[in-house]
Amino acid sequence: VAIDGPAGSGKSTTSRLLAHKLGISYLDTGAMYRAVALHFVQNELLTSDENLSSVIDSISIDIKNNSVYLNDVDVSSKIRTQGVSNLVSEVSCLPLVRSKLVEIQRSISRNQSIVIDGRDIGTVVFPNADFKFFVTASIEVRAIRRYEEMKLSDDNIDINQIMKDIRERDRIDSSRSHSPLIKANDAILIDTTDLDIDQQVNRILEIINKQN
Ligand code: C5P
Repeated sequence: VAIDGPAGSGKSTTSRLLAHKLGISYLDTGAMYRAVALHFVQNELLTSDENLSSVIDSISIDIKNNSVYLNDVDVSSKIRTQGVSNLVSEVSCLPLVRSKLVEIQRSISRNQSIVIDGRDIGTVVFPNADFKFFVTASIEVRAIRRYEEMKLSDDNIDINQIMKDIRERDRIDSSRSHSPLIKANDAILIDTTDLDIDQQVNRILEIINKQN
C-alpha cells in the first residue's frame, strides 16, 4: 500500500495505524531521508560537498522495529528536530541520496505486504503497488497538527513559522526535478482537512476492503 502526500497531511500516523489494522509491516521513508539529513547536520556537511559520493557511501541507514538507525545508532527522536526539518528537503533533492534510499526501501519491502509512506512511493518506488493513496489537507490544518505535536516538547513554537516551514518544504519537494511530490494518476485522493485520524484510517480501509 503506497501512501504519499505533503508534510503534516497525517499520512504517517494514518499509515502506521492502517498497517496495524491490516496486520502488515509499515515503513516511514521520510524517517530515512531525515536520518541522512541528520548526518549532514551532525558533520556540518553541505549538499554541495565535492566528495558527496563518498559521504553518501559512508552512511548506513537501517530500520528495525519502527526505529531508524544512522550508522548503527538509534536516531528516532533526533531526526524530528527543527534543524533536520530545515535541511531535509535540500538533502532529498540529491539523486545519490534518493537512489541509495530507494534501493533500501525496495529491499525491505521484498516478499512482504507493507504500508509505505513518503513522497514518491506510488510514482517511483512502487509504481505497481496494489493500492495507492495521496493524502492531503489544507495548509492551515496541516500547520495546526504540527503545532499541536511540537508544543508537547517545545513551549517556544510559533504557528506562523511552522506554516512558513511547511510551505517551503512543500515547494522544494514538489518542484525538484528528481522524483517530485506529485499524485500518481492512479492514486486515490484522500483529503483529511475535516477528518480525524480514525476517520482517515477507516476511509482507506473501506477502499482496500472493497477492492480486495
Ligand atoms: O514524511 P516527512 O515529512 O518526515 O519527510 C521529510 C522529508 O523527506 C520530506 O519533506 C521530503 O523532502 C523527504 N522525503 C522524500 N521522499 C520520500 C519521503 C520523504 O523526498 N519518499
